[in-house]
Amino acid sequence: MNIAVTVDDWHARARDIEYPTGHFIDGEHVPGKGGKNGPISVTNPATGQLLCEFAAGSHVDIDRAVASCRRTFREGVWRHMAPRERLAVLARMAQLIEANAERFALLDTLCMGKPIRDMLTIDVPSAAQTFAYFAELSDKIDGAVTPTARDAFHYILREPLGVVGCIVPWNYPLLMASWKVAPALAAGNSVVLKPAEQSPLSGLLLAELFVQAGGPPGVFNVVNGMGEAAGAALALHPDVAKIAFTGSTQIGKLMLVYAGQSNMKRVSLECGGKSPQIFLADLEDLDRAVSYAINGIIGNMGEVCNAGSRLLIDRRIAQDFVARFVERGKNAYRPGDPLDPQTNLGPLVTAQHQARVLSYIGKGRQEGARLEFGGDVPELPGNYINPTLFSGVSNSMAIAQQEIFGPVASAIEVDGLEHALSVANDSIYGLAASVWTRDLRQAHEAVRGLEAGVIWVNCFDHGDMTQPFGGYKQSGYGRDKCLESLIGYTQTKSAWIHLG
Ligand code: NAD
Ligand code: MN
Repeated sequence: MNIAVTVDDWHARARDIEYPTGHFIDGEHVPGKGGKNGPISVTNPATGQLLCEFAAGSHVDIDRAVASCRRTFREGVWRHMAPRERLAVLARMAQLIEANAERFALLDTLCMGKPIRDMLTIDVPSAAQTFAYFAELSDKIDGAVTPTARDAFHYILREPLGVVGCIVPWNYPLLMASWKVAPALAAGNSVVLKPAEQSPLSGLLLAELFVQAGGPPGVFNVVNGMGEAAGAALALHPDVAKIAFTGSTQIGKLMLVYAGQSNMKRVSLECGGKSPQIFLADLEDLDRAVSYAINGIIGNMGEVCNAGSRLLIDRRIAQDFVARFVERGKNAYRPGDPLDPQTNLGPLVTAQHQARVLSYIGKGRQEGARLEFGGDVPELPGNYINPTLFSGVSNSMAIAQQEIFGPVASAIEVDGLEHALSVANDSIYGLAASVWTRDLRQAHEAVRGLEAGVIWVNCFDHGDMTQPFGGYKQSGYGRDKCLESLIGYTQTKSAWIHLG
C-alpha cells in the first residue's frame, strides 16, 4: 500500500473522502432517519470547521439493528459457522484493517485530532493485532466433561451470549471498538456498535470490512448517535445480552442503572482513571523515567484512560526530576497540524473539552499548585492546549483526584514506598499504576500494594494482547484484550444426561 507521506498528500486525500452519514445495518450503509433527531455535526478539532454531518440514530435505528442481530444470532449464520471459518473471517479482517490503514487514519484523525502518525503506528496496527489475536481464539473455546457415576454423562458448553452492545469513546475510536467487537465476534455473538458522537466514521468502515471479509450481513451492525438517545436505547434494550462500555465513570454507572431497569443484562466497564507513577529514590535511570513520565501524560494529548496523570516522586529526587521534566517536556511535544506526519501533539477533541481541561488548570492554580510550564493555549486555530506540569500538588486537590483527560501532569512529593502507596491508593480510580525502583523487594511490594488492574515496573504502557486491561474500584470491571475478555462474552450451559 502506498501511504501518503507529506502533509500536502494527506490534505489532498482528506479532500477526496466521501463521508458515510448514517448507520450500517444488515450489511449496508443506511441513511438513518435524521429529522428531529439530527443531524449531528462533527467539527474538525484542528480547524474548527465543519467536517461532516450525520443522522443521529434514535431508538428506531437501535431497534432495527438489534432485531437484525437477534435474527442472525437465532439463525446461527455466525455462531454455528464452523469455528475454523469464523477464524478465517476475523483473520481476513485483521488484514483488511492493515490494508485500509490510510482510510482509518484519516477518519479518526479528522474527527478527533489525533496525530496521523499515531494512527499509523499505534491505533491501526493495534486494531489489526486485536482481530488477529481473537481470530486465533475462535476455535479454542472449549467446554468440559466432568466426572460422573456410570448412570450419567455431564458436559459443559461455553456459548455466546446473544446480542452484544458496544459503547465506545472518541479517544481511540477504531481501537476501543476493536477491543470490544473482536472478542465478542470471536465468541460467536452478534454485535451492535455505538461509536462516540465525536468520532462516528471509523466504526462504519470496520463493519463494512467485516462483510468484505466474508462475515454474514447483520452480525455486526453500527448505529451512530448521541449517548443519551442511541446509547441509552441500546443499553436499555430488552434483547441485548451485554453492554461492553468504555467511557466516563459517570456514564459507566448509568449502564448499571439501565441494566437493572431493563433485562438485567451483563455490563463490563472500562472507565478511566487517575493513574499514579511512583518514582522511588533508587530508580536506575532518571532520564529514562522522566521520558516515560512525559510520554505517559502528554501522548495522545493526555486523552488516555490510563494516562499517568499523577507523578508520585520521592522527595529526595523530586527537584531534579521536575527540573528535567520541565526542560524536556517543554520541547518534546509541539502542537501542530495532525495531518502533518511530523506532528506529535494534536488538538483536544472538542472546544468544550478544551474548556473543561482549562478549567482544571484554573483550579490547580487556585488550589495553590505551582505551574511549572504550559497551562496556556498556543496560537493555532484548533482546540489546542500546551503540555502542562504542576508541582507541589497535594493529593486532595481537584487536579489530583479528578480525571482531566488532557496533557496535564501533577507532581506530588512522597517519602518512600509506604507513603507513596497510601497516596497512590487514595483515589476512587484504579486502572493502572507504575513503580520505578532497582529494588526487587520494593517492586513486588508495590505490585501487591497498588489498587489497580494494570501495574508496570520500570516502564509505562508496555504490553501485548495477552495482557488483561481493565480496572479496580471505580475504573470499572471486566477486562479488555486477553483470553479473559473473550470469556466475558460467553456463558456456560450444563447438560446432565441420565443414562441409568
Ligand atoms: P462519555 O462517557 O459521556 O461517552 C462515552 C460513550 O458513552 C460515548 O459513545 C457516548 O455517546 C456514550 N454515552 C454518553 N451518555 C450516554 C448515555 N446516557 N447512555 C448511553 N451511552 C451514553 O464520555 P465523554 O462525555 O466523551 O467524556 C467525558 C469525560 O469522560 C472525559 O473528559 C474523560 O474524563 C472521561 N472519558 C474516559 C474515557 C476512557 O477511555 N476511559 C473515554 C472518554 C471519556
Ligand atoms: Mn458525555
